Amino acid sequence: VARRERKSPTRPVIVIDAGHGGVDPGAASGEVLEKDVVLSVARHLRTILAVKDRYDVHMTRASDVFISLDRRLSVSRRAGASLFISVHADSIGAQEHARSVRGATVYTLSELASSRQAQLLADKENASDILAGAENGAEEETDQVKSILIDLMRRETSNFSAEFRRRLLSHMKRTIALSRDPSRSAAFKVLKQPQCPSVLVELGYMSNAQDARLLASPDWQRQVAHSIAQAVDEYFAK
Ligand code: ZN
Repeated sequence: VARRERKSPTRPVIVIDAGHGGVDPGAASGEVLEKDVVLSVARHLRTILAVKDRYDVHMTRASDVFISLDRRLSVSRRAGASLFISVHADSIGAQEHARSVRGATVYTLSELASSRQAQLLADKENASDILAGAENGAEEETDQVKSILIDLMRRETSNFSAEFRRRLLSHMKRTIALSRDPSRSAAFKVLKQPQCPSVLVELGYMSNAQDARLLASPDWQRQVAHSIAQAVDEYFAK
């Protein structure tokens, strides 16, 4: 009888969050939609991580369905995430330099955005629920003690988030150019998780021809998933 290791309860829990889905296509480049690109990368990442048998891997969505931002947060909370990775692809339109802006960016949470651009992107991603007409779950912090504890946890997890981002960027730059300012932060709703480090990866710009070609390529999608997995391995090996 083959000896089967019992699943250790201390295995890191990775929650992979493919952005958008269903009625919310995200950014588009011709026929190529952000929701499809990020789902494909997320699925590859799940497979690559699951095969290692070292992590418990969860996805907020595994198919083309709409999931509200609140739901994504509750999936992460219930799974007991050790690390939350939200996967997106950016696009800028109707701007003079839209076509020349390219590269990957990794965002962490901060109430104050690191730049106006970062703020605009967070506004855009946060509007996903409105776009899909999802109910706006107003989760106001009424309990002050709770919010102080959350602040403390947030400070600690934000250091871990920044550390994971550093590793992620160093692996991702082998598969795609990094944007001019690849470490950014803003108030993304999906990153508001005091209990675990979380990052939002913009794989590249759908509005840039070079990036769009990569983003649409199944080979590249697999490669970038490998880069992300390497960063995950490195982060948990520490
Ligand atoms: Zn997005």
